Amino acid sequence: MYARDRFNYNPAAVKEKKVLKTTQCGELGSANNGQTVQLAGWVNRRRDHGNLIFVDLRDRSGIVQIVFNPEIHPSPHKLAESVRNEWVLQVSGQVTPRSADTVNSNMSTGAIEIAATELVVLNESKTPPFYINEESDVDELLRMRYRYLDLRRPSMRDMLQTRHKAVKYIRDFLDARGFLDVETPILIKSTPEGARDYLVPSRLYPGKFYALPQSPQQLKQLLMAAGVEKYYQIAKCFRDEDPRGDRQPEFTQLDLEMSFVDEDDILDLIESLYTELFETFAPDRVILQKPFPRISFNEAMQRFGTDRPDIRYGMEMSDLAGLVENTDFQVFQTAINSGGIVKGFSAPGLAEMPRRQLDDLVEFAKGAGAQGLVYIALASDASSIDDLTQDHIKSPVAKFLSVDAVKAIAHKTGANPGDLLLIVAGPSKSTNTALDALRRELAERLHLADPNVLAFMFVVDWPLFIWNEEESRWDSPHHPFTAPQAGHEQDLESDPGAAMSRAYDLVCNGLEAGGGSIRIHQRDLQNRVFQILGYTKEQTEARFKQILDAFDYGTPPHGGIATGIERLMMLLLNNDSIREVIAFPKTQSFIDPLFEAPDFVEEDQLRELSVRVLE
Ligand code: ASP
Repeated sequence: MYARDRFNYNPAAVKEKKVLKTTQCGELGSANNGQTVQLAGWVNRRRDHGNLIFVDLRDRSGIVQIVFNPEIHPSPHKLAESVRNEWVLQVSGQVTPRSADTVNSNMSTGAIEIAATELVVLNESKTPPFYINEESDVDELLRMRYRYLDLRRPSMRDMLQTRHKAVKYIRDFLDARGFLDVETPILIKSTPEGARDYLVPSRLYPGKFYALPQSPQQLKQLLMAAGVEKYYQIAKCFRDEDPRGDRQPEFTQLDLEMSFVDEDDILDLIESLYTELFETFAPDRVILQKPFPRISFNEAMQRFGTDRPDIRYGMEMSDLAGLVENTDFQVFQTAINSGGIVKGFSAPGLAEMPRRQLDDLVEFAKGAGAQGLVYIALASDASSIDDLTQDHIKSPVAKFLSVDAVKAIAHKTGANPGDLLLIVAGPSKSTNTALDALRRELAERLHLADPNVLAFMFVVDWPLFIWNEEESRWDSPHHPFTAPQAGHEQDLESDPGAAMSRAYDLVCNGLEAGGGSIRIHQRDLQNRVFQILGYTKEQTEARFKQILDAFDYGTPPHGGIATGIERLMMLLLNNDSIREVIAFPKTQSFIDPLFEAPDFVEEDQLRELSVRVLE
């Protein structure tokens, strides 16, 4: 039986049903003068002037002022005396122009007000734990505990609206280009995306588990095998990683895949989409370079020490090994002799940095993984780098470096008198990581990154494998389905480190905004990659049978990309917290303070799942 039968569904009665609301508060203006309207919303503020009571009524569209006049309509006025902030009201009344001296030009509805004739209290409210009618700083945990109140605040409402519109824009954009939106399951099997899986115990098959998708990677490839040709999805991804900064255990991706394409097809599509999105939703921001520059992974690492450089500012890094290999400074020698690197950059105008701050900088670099940090201040009173003398050079290691060596370093890093040279020596990975952190930190302190600029770029030409020092094995920088570049297939086994891949990342302002690749679509090649990554035949069979089998049945060449919707929103809204662009986020420690999840469950539930919790 349908619900409508149970409730004596009567279409005629529905048509005649009295609506609670005829008009949105924020849409009213002088054009509506004289109209009778019925509004419904929340009390944003109430002012009792003894004689007249003013209520600012708020709904999703905005705020309008209601006036209760005891002389004309005594009973609604009486009731209005009792209402408080955040009560839910239904108000009928007439749109009337405000007198010239009471027009409020700060409000979009400030030229009119509603002379109330009827008032119904639809619900009351306790005093909220924080102001909703003010954009004041509120403890984030409290906001998350009462997220439904937090989301009433205009800035959060605007965020929800922009996110909705941006996602709709993406859907329309891809629909116009022939993409199919296909939903893929949430209960699947483990997928290698570099993180731990969230597991879901199966009640029906004791001891067996589903995994939540880290991404729909294999599913979208199987859709290519299915002949879908152009797929996209606004997909939820789940990754059980350690909490850190702006991570969330679940997040959303624009996930897409295409058949019969090469790198340019995917990158051109994403470039058009992102350009249009930013021109539409952030028209005041400037895209630094169009077309988006493409730089290789190696170049990014050399110049910026990272695969997601922020190119809104300089402080590019230089390899200094050749310049310091003959100096007396032991730290440089040791690094070079043990296969490490010596790299540095020049921080503009920081030569006068006080000793204590310099010590802090050294500690910062160590915290970021450096063994140490060498700084050399170049006095600003030198007329040029070529005129530097020993007196112009301030550094704890000055006695180990000749003036000529310092001049050479200054030239190589593009330093000027008044700048501070910063140099790190050690193993390449940790040295690059530390220098990248240092460069970002200084850019922030010196306000070098223009928030209005969007420095998009594609990082291309990634290695197919990266050596994992700790675990002594090869890893995929992206995932194992990435295809090698033409001409690199034959040497995979003999020299895995030299194989280049067809992967790419979209980077903006130092954030990884997306990543993808052209994929492998043949069983043999895929098996070889699994083997190099250390999977046994049995493991490969157990985990990847589905996709390897599909390769046997005419899977077309294909490739794709996934970009982060939250990262997109953070960039669009110029907000650097991921939690500000999600309706119901988890805290930084992955707790949901609203539902108080994760939580314990009943013994019975565990028993049903054949699960026992270890003490
Ligand atoms: N599935 C990948 C990821 O989530 C993206 C891709 O290769 O398309 O990073």
